Amino acid sequence: MSGREPLLLAIESSCDETGVALVAGGRRIVAQAVASQIALHAPAGGIVPELAARAHLRWIVPALREVLETGGVTLPQVDGIAVTAGPGLAGSLLVGIAFAKTLAWAHRLPLVGVNHLEGHLYAAWLLGRDEPERPAPPFPLVALVVSGGHTFLVEMRDHLSYRLLGETVDDAAGEAFDKAGRLLGLGYPGGPAIATAAVGARRRDTVLPRAWLGGSYDFSFSGLKTALRRLVEAELAAAARPPTESGGRLDPPRVAELAWGFQEAVVDVLSTKTLRAADDTAAQAIVLGGGVASNRALRERIAAGAAARGLPVFIPPPDLCTDNGAMIGAAGWQRFLAGERAGSDLGARPAWPLVRPFGTPDTRRPPRRGPAARAYEAALAAERDAAGDVPVAPVRGSAP
Ligand code: ADP
Ligand code: MG
Repeated sequence: MSGREPLLLAIESSCDETGVALVAGGRRIVAQAVASQIALHAPAGGIVPELAARAHLRWIVPALREVLETGGVTLPQVDGIAVTAGPGLAGSLLVGIAFAKTLAWAHRLPLVGVNHLEGHLYAAWLLGRDEPERPAPPFPLVALVVSGGHTFLVEMRDHLSYRLLGETVDDAAGEAFDKAGRLLGLGYPGGPAIATAAVGARRRDTVLPRAWLGGSYDFSFSGLKTALRRLVEAELAAAARPPTESGGRLDPPRVAELAWGFQEAVVDVLSTKTLRAADDTAAQAIVLGGGVASNRALRERIAAGAAARGLPVFIPPPDLCTDNGAMIGAAGWQRFLAGERAGSDLGARPAWPLVRPFGTPDTRRPPRRGPAARAYEAALAAERDAAGDVPVAPVRGSAP
């Protein structure tokens, strides 16, 4: 083969974005397309799974076409396919998986199933199409993933190796933003709406509670959400306006102040714990990923703390923080390098945890023999039961 870098076709359909990308050498985005369903789900104020799956079906082929066209690539030039296998909505995942398996079979390409959360982490390794080369994040590092469905902090001492430091005990950070957005009458998704509203806050003195949870790295946002709800309801009642469920709203200047106070509370906890984790683990870098990592206040707070410690921070540009195909290409590349291959029996794993429940730090080399191997198999089986694996009918026959 020529000196060119191996090219992965990556597919993401776990939730409400159809993402397809071509990624070279695990880092360089050659082309990508993301079909967002935000407008589709906005009237419901949240994702409607059945609609999401159908929209993936509608947009996955056009997204692939666009990516091949803009990348100037044909399928026979692709070296492998990476696809999100979980966690996510079963119906949505199955669309991407079936599509990836069909392409892999038809073009005799190796396939790998990728954990969506690992994708959010590896987005920090990506390079834009015309971006100059820059070093990859050095190990050991701490990584904070904050998305609509997940919030956790891990230590990485090597590729694909995770030690869970903390995670949310109730709502994910993005979920909290979305709920707060609804309470404030800001619409869906709440995160960007709150961030935008907060910029306009004139008074910046609203203090909402932070759940520090002792010295742990765990997070909790449900108390904060309740505090905001109480405040909004009390102020609506005082103004003789109907409650939020009946469409009551505070005046925009007050909404801006509360949006600021809410964002401040979330950002304070996320950044304080992440920076403390970096200190405690002697990290050489900080990585951020997930939709909430596109929040400007959070990015600035972490960047300032990291700069004060002389640590580099790697935060993808906002469009790579939210769901996309390229991040699956970056993570999938590491899985390919580790020798992983998926067969035609690759299924959706709606509740696939990134860090194994029994805490094997290195998911690359599962134990092959002895009690460790038996424990591994047992834990995998338990996880499969809990996750309710949805197998996809294997593709039969052989390629023409
Ligand atoms: P998931 O993978 O769980 O669907 P994503 O990684 O796509 O989540 O991120 C979506 C989440 O990110 C939503 O909850 C959204 O409100 C939140 N989000 C997006 N932009 C911002 C922002 N600027 N500030 C805070 N939250 C944001
Ligand atoms: Mg996501």
